[in-house]
Amino acid sequence: MQNALTIDVEDWFQVAAFFPHVPRSSWEGRESRVVANTGRLLDLLAERQMRATFFVLGWVAEREPALIRRIAQAGHEVACHGYSHEFVYRQTPEVFREETVRAKSHLEDLLGIAIDGYRASTYSITRQSLWALDILLELGFRYDSSLFPVRHPQYGIPGAPRFPGFFPTPKGGSILEFPLSTARLGTMSLPVAGGGYFRLLPYAYTRAGLRSINRRENEPFIFYLHPWEIDPGQPRVADASFSARLRHYTNLDRCEARLKKLFADFSFTTVREVLMTKGLLAPRQAA
Ligand SMILES: [Zn+2]
Repeated sequence: MQNALTIDVEDWFQVAAFFPHVPRSSWEGRESRVVANTGRLLDLLAERQMRATFFVLGWVAEREPALIRRIAQAGHEVACHGYSHEFVYRQTPEVFREETVRAKSHLEDLLGIAIDGYRASTYSITRQSLWALDILLELGFRYDSSLFPVRHPQYGIPGAPRFPGFFPTPKGGSILEFPLSTARLGTMSLPVAGGGYFRLLPYAYTRAGLRSINRRENEPFIFYLHPWEIDPGQPRVADASFSARLRHYTNLDRCEARLKKLFADFSFTTVREVLMTKGLLAPRQAA
């Protein structure tokens, strides 16, 4: 079964856990590593002739147009990860709309194609910010992948649907949603599909969880990773909290090898392909 592979293209200093220690006003002066790290991911995918969806942060897209073109030219899907990486539930609907338009139209101008997939910073479309789904529909997005059906201090909608399908919006609309994958253990939903969970916990845990989604539940999963997660050489944010440092820095040096195992054990393609195969998304109309 084909699963969705997704990369959230942002730099090491833009991670939500570092917000209190790395103010946005300092981003411009930080060492940029996103081009090199994303490039390594692109090489890994090219070796395997594997395609993925890259949710690109608008802030990065404005500064690194050549990287975004390279992603698209390699046949991957480019989608939108917002502009500022602020949590959606900390924005007003007006600010959210404005920054999402900015990020989407920049990518569209750069690539000359419609950008119609969205993922919120840190999965921050929660019960408090479901209004964002209506704005995404109004702006022409055809799918979202921001809902995480788990309990977590920064994100999550416990009890939300676990598999791709149409999700009702507050204004009575309906948006195609690919929620972040969880594995079922008894009555619990365990996050298994990427990021810190992938790096911190043993690979056998990830593999067992993902296999159970494919084999027992007969559903595709969606896996996510950030370019900085394969970069053990990145600068350290020494004054971040212990838990933030634990989540961010553990096993960076093992992540690339683990990723190669994952690529050998499972099949991957873009979000768009998976949704089309399930008959949820129609093919793009020719311009
Ligand atoms: Zn992000």
